Amino acid sequence: MFDIVIIGAGTAGLSAAIYASRAGKSALVLEGKAYGGQIINTPDIENYPGIAHISGFDFATGLYNQAKALGAVVKMQQALRITKADGRFLVETRRETHEAKAVILATGAKNRPLGLEKEEALIGRGISYCATCDGMFYRGKTVAVNGGGNTAVEDAMFLTGYCEKVYLIHRRDAFRADEKEVERLREKENVEFVLDSVVEALEETDGRLSGIRVKNVKSGESSELPVGGLFIAIGQVPDNGAFQDLVDLDEKGYIIAGEDLKTKTEGVFTAGDCRTKEVRQLTTAASDGAVAALAASKYIDALT
Ligand code: NAP
Repeated sequence: MFDIVIIGAGTAGLSAAIYASRAGKSALVLEGKAYGGQIINTPDIENYPGIAHISGFDFATGLYNQAKALGAVVKMQQALRITKADGRFLVETRRETHEAKAVILATGAKNRPLGLEKEEALIGRGISYCATCDGMFYRGKTVAVNGGGNTAVEDAMFLTGYCEKVYLIHRRDAFRADEKEVERLREKENVEFVLDSVVEALEETDGRLSGIRVKNVKSGESSELPVGGLFIAIGQVPDNGAFQDLVDLDEKGYIIAGEDLKTKTEGVFTAGDCRTKEVRQLTTAASDGAVAALAASKYIDALT
């Protein structure tokens, strides 16, 4: 039996593992994909206090190694179900069932799809949700990025280094992304901003994306852009459906919790992007991990 099972090995989950271990608690981190969470795809982090520049991969690897060195166990298993019986939690994965005194849900969020016809079928054939992972495949081509947040602007900037031309399509004319980054992108010669516009259809030729139809929401006019790649960066959606018996979810699916990170079930805490909060940043994910781990440790100490 572990003291704390942490679901998710992103920044929040691994920070929780570090704090739980340092509080003398045994911690098991379960991860269904790969450690690191969303930050692993960020080429350069420059807003984490005290670290001027670091790649997302190096940051996540540092967290992972730190958590393991402090004694946390990390298993690449997806938590499918959690039940509580006699004050103990059973966390079921396909391979094993783990027992714990407390649980921290740090499930993060997954990429939001546009919801267009053929979108799913064209993933890996012109549709991507990760410029740093797939950008190289589009070297010398014309591509589009959709979104107006930091991810979209960062993706577009990254792609300007490889692609002949990059369209940045955003549904408004004001960006959610940091102004400094938008300005930096505007200076690139091979970028064209397509504002007040949405992608309304995907064109396919021989099983690959060959173009997109874009509609200007102000004029109502549609036009075709002959792109070989579309990088969708329109935010994230939470993935907490498996745990809705234990926690309350808001209308968007985020786990409802205040700054104490307690959920409706005693002994279940939450941390990071998967919960209701105003600011979803690396710093707030790390901060949540610390708060949740210390709250879980206090809860466990009170049991004995
Ligand atoms: P985000 O900030 O939520 O931005 C999503 C963007 O997609 C928004 O511009 C939104 O438009 C647009 N959008 C949403 N749904 C859409 C739809 N159905 N069709 C078309 N456009 C749609 O997401 P993000 O850029 O992935 O960033 C997530 C969080 O991570 C943010 O807090 C961000 O600051 C942070 N982040 C930070 C860094 C960094 O600091 N280096 C890098 C990446 C991400 P509207 O603006 O009109 O709503």
